[in-house]
Amino acid sequence: MAALLLTGGRVVDPANRLDAQTDLLISEGKIAAVGADAAQRAPRDAERMAVDGFVVCPGLIDLHVHLREPGQTSKETLATGTAAAARGGFTSVVCMPNTSPAIDNAGTVALIRERAAQQGIVNVFVAGAISKDIAGEELAPLGGLKRAGVVAITDDGHCVQNNELMRRACEYAKMFDLPVMDHCQDYALVTDGVMHEGYWSTVLGLRGWPSAGEEVIVARNILLAELTGAKVHCQHLSAAGSVALLREAKKRGVPISGEACPHHFTLTDAAVAGSEKFWATDGKTLNSQLSTLNSKCDWPKYDTNFKMNPPLRTARDREAILEGLADGTIEILCSDHAPHCAYEKEVEFDYAPFGITGLETELALSLMQLYHTKRLSLTDLIARFTLGPARLLRLPKGTLSVGAEADVTVFDPDREWVFEKGASASKASNSPFCGWPLRGKAVATIVGGRKAWVEERELAKA
Ligand SMILES: [Zn+2]
Repeated sequence: MAALLLTGGRVVDPANRLDAQTDLLISEGKIAAVGADAAQRAPRDAERMAVDGFVVCPGLIDLHVHLREPGQTSKETLATGTAAAARGGFTSVVCMPNTSPAIDNAGTVALIRERAAQQGIVNVFVAGAISKDIAGEELAPLGGLKRAGVVAITDDGHCVQNNELMRRACEYAKMFDLPVMDHCQDYALVTDGVMHEGYWSTVLGLRGWPSAGEEVIVARNILLAELTGAKVHCQHLSAAGSVALLREAKKRGVPISGEACPHHFTLTDAAVAGSEKFWATDGKTLNSQLSTLNSKCDWPKYDTNFKMNPPLRTARDREAILEGLADGTIEILCSDHAPHCAYEKEVEFDYAPFGITGLETELALSLMQLYHTKRLSLTDLIARFTLGPARLLRLPKGTLSVGAEADVTVFDPDREWVFEKGASASKASNSPFCGWPLRGKAVATIVGGRKAWVEERELAKA
């Protein structure tokens, strides 16, 4: 593998508190030099890539991705999912265990890791299940999962309802030094809700999924983290109350953390209505862009690409998530990339599966909502995609330190583009952001020193 020299980029490495226009040298799959001497130290046959005007940062990590293997390859595969990750600027992803069968034993972990090594073009880390078959009744063999290489445990897509079982999971996880990630959903409160319980669910006649259904479990997780000392991580936070609980618990030093996904801090539940008329009551900032795209619509759209779990909530919730990200209460950004077949989503709202794709839009939406609005510096935004997840999962990633694996993302924070349906590398196109004008885009994704993906027009330029 030839050495690769990235010249003239704005190198932002939160782990080393670096933000400077300089060069970066990659050699033998490792970061070999960062700074003025990188060019001098480059061997004569090194490949050069001019990245002036672009940001060069540690490879982005998405710790919440559904790659659908094994068993659901009509939705996504390790090959297509990791290709989408590379296009989105992600060098590492963590795949969720709610597959078919579930990733609840060492054999399935080995299968995923082997296939990912053959077919994946970015690093794939595996999250194992908390309970057998993700049924919430009996613990999965957590020691065996740890030995097989999982980086965390979660029943994502489901939530362990039995608090005693969750307590035992935390105790074992602490023993095995594994973070426990939780999809926070109280089944008794949520029942068969399909969207946020509030004004719009009433207007649209859809069953509601109340914020309390998430907040109750966030509170439970805080208490169990405190009781057991295990690291508990609350996935895809959607409600203002959850952010407040997390903020207060972190102040007390509880080992609890949280993540947010772009759809929850970009859209609101009014999006399910989808009509210009409906948008008006809530149509500030980004939502109003969609109203112009849908300006001819007079009736509620019930667009199933706005159906996710947890659901889109109110403008107040959206604001609380943004504030939580800005003040550091929420230290991790991720997509909850959840691909589905078109035919599965093309049904009545009640019957459609929850979830949307996100790997290729999350960087742009995060830049738009957090960086371009000046809520977060570029360093802090990048930290939420690199240092934050690397710390939680104890991955030797998320840094451009000399000697580290050369996982590097190059992106243009200002590039204006449109996410076109059908142009995605994912097998699926269930995204509410198809056709949206976006700002900010990855142009090169380098994994272990190899170019996993480079935007063609940039390659031509170099
Ligand atoms: Zn989930």
